[in-house]
Amino acid sequence: MKEAGRITGEALLYIRDYVRDGVSTYELDKLIRQFIEKNGARPSFLNYSGFPASACISINDEVIHGIPSKKRILRDGDIVKVDVGACYKGFHGDAARTIPVGKVSEEAARLIEVTRQSFFEGAAAARAGMRIGDIGSAIQKHAESNGFSVVRPYIGHGVGHELHEQPDVPNYGTPGHGVRLCNGMTIAIEPMINAGVKEVKDLPDGWTVKTADGKLSAHYENTVAILPDGPKILTLIDKNW
Ligand code: MG
Repeated sequence: MKEAGRITGEALLYIRDYVRDGVSTYELDKLIRQFIEKNGARPSFLNYSGFPASACISINDEVIHGIPSKKRILRDGDIVKVDVGACYKGFHGDAARTIPVGKVSEEAARLIEVTRQSFFEGAAAARAGMRIGDIGSAIQKHAESNGFSVVRPYIGHGVGHELHEQPDVPNYGTPGHGVRLCNGMTIAIEPMINAGVKEVKDLPDGWTVKTADGKLSAHYENTVAILPDGPKILTLIDKNW
């Protein structure tokens, strides 16, 4: 899990430098696939339930599961969510970042930062003896107290031999409720936070999820191991990102 996490986190760090005005999401996806394979792993998302690419790349009001395409060209002021999974020796890492393209609006920058921070609020509760609801409520509290909303139908999850395992890890909840966390569990904590309403809609392509009101959405995800000395974030390479 540590190796899978490292490769996943490094793939995101690698692609950050390629995110710029004029690049297509297809090109980013190709680079991510090459990076993962060069590191002896395989892209977890490729062909997962039929997903046709190695990364989910979602722009602006797209929340998650955007399909990379030669027709999707990044423009200055966009925010782009890159979600990557790498499978190494049968174990999966799963992580996502929201990356600004050039100069973005003040609100977009604040949404990205609040979403990132909400992850760390949640991850701090990823300790043996705590419960799933402790993670979700910490994320929700941080996002909502900053005037943003939490996506409900899409949530974090256990991760290990399979990309998606039990338990569900919602980004909302009640403290002290839900599955009890144990040492050795590995979970993907992944707040998806909207600037406007929490409602989302699924597009006819069968994958892409957008905000219902067309406002921006941000995503931040890491694979976290629950260990006796606290949460270890396996996909965090640059501590400030
Ligand atoms: Mg995930």
